[in-house]
Amino acid sequence: MLSFDPDKVSLPVGHYIDGQHIQAQGTAFAVKRPSDGKVFATLYEADAALVDRAVQVAHRRVKESGWASCPPRERGRVLRRWADLIEQDLLLAQLESLGSTRPISDVVQHEIPFTAEAIRFYAECADKYSGDVFPTRDSSLGMLVSEPYGVIAAITPWNFPLSMASWKCGPALAAGNAVVLKPSELTPFSTVRMAELAIQAGLPAGVLNIIQGGGAVTGSSLVKHPLVRKVSFTGSTLTGARIMSDAAQHGMKPVTLELGGKSPQLVFDDAGDLDVLAQRIMRGFTANGGQACVAGTRLIVQQGIAAALTDRLVALCREVQPGVTWHEQSRYAPLIDERQGCKVASVVAAAKAQGAEVLVGGERFGNTDAGWFWQPTLLSHVNSDNPAVQQEIFGPVLTVQTFSEEEEGLALAAHDTYGLCAGVHTLSLPRALRAMRAIEAGTVWINRYGRSGDFIIPTGGFLGSGIGKDLGRQAFQACQRQKSVLIDF
Ligand code: ADP
Repeated sequence: MLSFDPDKVSLPVGHYIDGQHIQAQGTAFAVKRPSDGKVFATLYEADAALVDRAVQVAHRRVKESGWASCPPRERGRVLRRWADLIEQDLLLAQLESLGSTRPISDVVQHEIPFTAEAIRFYAECADKYSGDVFPTRDSSLGMLVSEPYGVIAAITPWNFPLSMASWKCGPALAAGNAVVLKPSELTPFSTVRMAELAIQAGLPAGVLNIIQGGGAVTGSSLVKHPLVRKVSFTGSTLTGARIMSDAAQHGMKPVTLELGGKSPQLVFDDAGDLDVLAQRIMRGFTANGGQACVAGTRLIVQQGIAAALTDRLVALCREVQPGVTWHEQSRYAPLIDERQGCKVASVVAAAKAQGAEVLVGGERFGNTDAGWFWQPTLLSHVNSDNPAVQQEIFGPVLTVQTFSEEEEGLALAAHDTYGLCAGVHTLSLPRALRAMRAIEAGTVWINRYGRSGDFIIPTGGFLGSGIGKDLGRQAFQACQRQKSVLIDF
């Protein structure tokens, strides 16, 4: 039985620095449960002095403890033990489900195994990458030596708190760095539990630290801290731009930025079984209530199957039932909070004002307490400058556009701002490959939509969707810097 009582879950306290819970007082912020809007905790934001303390600790401990210099396989062993503890910890699953938008069954079946496996993937990377040796003169030896950066700042969003933390901490720690992680102020708790488990697994205290607070003070003090050598961020494009600018002005730090998206689902007449296709498109825009940067939110469908496919989607949307995240039967995620609910409502209203027709949904579910569950929504009669096509909504809203010729479909799939992902659905291999080449996006899924458990495949955006890669060998290598060496002998 996975259902639990949300009032009986014991919450970790405050910040987690040097293996200790810190209850520093400062600006208070309330933490709410997305499922019913109830305030269930108050935390205190880390100010610049506390951020400094966390970074200083990380800087010191990563050296003193030998984490940076130990045999890499030893780091791999600790990370594997950490992944095992993550998989066994029911409290972690409950904290994630209670405080975020993820139903408990989804957390247990997907989020936790996905988090643990990502860490295992980086445990395997720890000793697999080396530098290089160059042909120089007879009496010299040229080398490229990889070394960890030192302290890496990680800043994560509220939509997938655990797996986002694993994407940042896995490669950074495996490569021998320390991490100071600031989770979203909306979902602060599960990451602290994750860090406690890391210490239990044998990670030296102070090598992974969690600080709580919003972006304006805590996040920006972290990015600007002189001992932070690299910043890895997932979140909105606007915040990513601010972080890039701060990182440039405060030490020219390298950044990895995984940002927003407005990804197309390009469906051709020959895409195969329409029921399978409808399920795939449905998952693509409603998973986590549409609150995923990779959500496939623009259906671009060839005229021959447009009506049949949208009919099926409308029927699937009508089946969706909301339910609090701590019930085992719940499958559909609430929006994170009222602010996000109002944002979804305002973009839908603006879309309608510009001629969009609501095929299904378009409103908040009426039969829920204070949670913001938004009905899966299909909007037709939209052109490319409609706000629902232009803006990342971060809610379960799919726009529908149709086309007749391939060229026209490809033109509609392009987006002015974003280039994160795209889905291409056709059983014609040449057409699929033409589309893959033409689409300007960091990931193209063909006859599927969404990530698999293949952590070897990196992910990252083009255009306003970001810089650099998470996952894959690339993310590990981006957590080390290369030093050129020339030895005369
Ligand atoms: P959202 O509001 O959709 O969560 P953001 O991109 O604003 O998206 O937030 C993602 C993460 O970035 C959160 O942890 C947030 O606190 C943090 N953040 C916001 N602004 C800044 C900033 N100026 N500097 C550093 N971190 C920030």
